[in-house]
Amino acid sequence: MTYQELVQRIVDLQDEGLELFNAGKSVLGKNILATHVGSYDGIQILIQGGIHAREYISTLLMIEQARYLNALDLVKNGGIYFVFLTNPDGAEIVLDGIDTAPCDITKQYLVLANGGFDFSQYKANINLVDLNTNFDADWGTGGQNVRCPNTENFIGFYPNSEREVISLINFTRQVRPSLTISYHSKGEVIYYGFPGQSEQDLARDKAIGEQLSATTGYPLIFTENSSGGYKDWCIRVLTIPSYTIEVGDVNLEHPIGEENLPEIFEQNKDVPLVALNQAIKYQNQINIQQTKKANQPRIAKLFSMFKR
Ligand SMILES: [Zn+2]
Repeated sequence: MTYQELVQRIVDLQDEGLELFNAGKSVLGKNILATHVGSYDGIQILIQGGIHAREYISTLLMIEQARYLNALDLVKNGGIYFVFLTNPDGAEIVLDGIDTAPCDITKQYLVLANGGFDFSQYKANINLVDLNTNFDADWGTGGQNVRCPNTENFIGFYPNSEREVISLINFTRQVRPSLTISYHSKGEVIYYGFPGQSEQDLARDKAIGEQLSATTGYPLIFTENSSGGYKDWCIRVLTIPSYTIEVGDVNLEHPIGEENLPEIFEQNKDVPLVALNQAIKYQNQINIQQTKKANQPRIAKLFSMFKR
């Protein structure tokens, strides 16, 4: 699969009546594409993926989830935002190689950091920042954090330094989700919770997480020794329930290929609806400041439409 083919899969959702819009921009100016399924009124949730370059299987999964929910008209209350590919610059390098880098110095810099021309294991954005360590939530305290540019685990020189991170933060604040899910690979586990939560919030998040665990068959694990992730930021700053779901058998090689998509989809096809229904069920225990807005503006009017 090429990067263009991956993007085309997202663009083709328009043929099924789904509206696409930009959730923001990457460092290199690519659109971070999103869609919405269901109603803009009522409780909203947000699902994002592809924040790590090599994990575009999560993007393919979310495309199938959006298509499935839309085709069967399954979302009866509230709505679901899908942000398909939070790190498009990184995904392009993994899929199409380093020659897609915009200039020779960047190319040399990345090849040096990567230790060669095989970028199949690359996780960072074009600035060699691991975006899922760059959010301002106990930034720099994770067990695997590194302090210098790297293909993985580099936290950035300061929190929220990266354009993709700012984009996702701004988009999240605009759409006011009551719950978020971040899709990653691999390992078939679900992470919940973050240090500093109230006991009540932790119990809420565990209860919702158990429903996600039941529908996927993935075990639910409390997050330890991790920080700076989007999930962490959602819990710490917005105080909403937020989960990381790792798809794909732990023995698969990165990047996980499309041949594994049918099984991954089968395990995860009901996750968006289960998550939305749980957010509705627990709405009185989820920070009302994030969710009380009665008439949510149609997000498509706030962002430029994605043109084919
Ligand atoms: Zn990941």
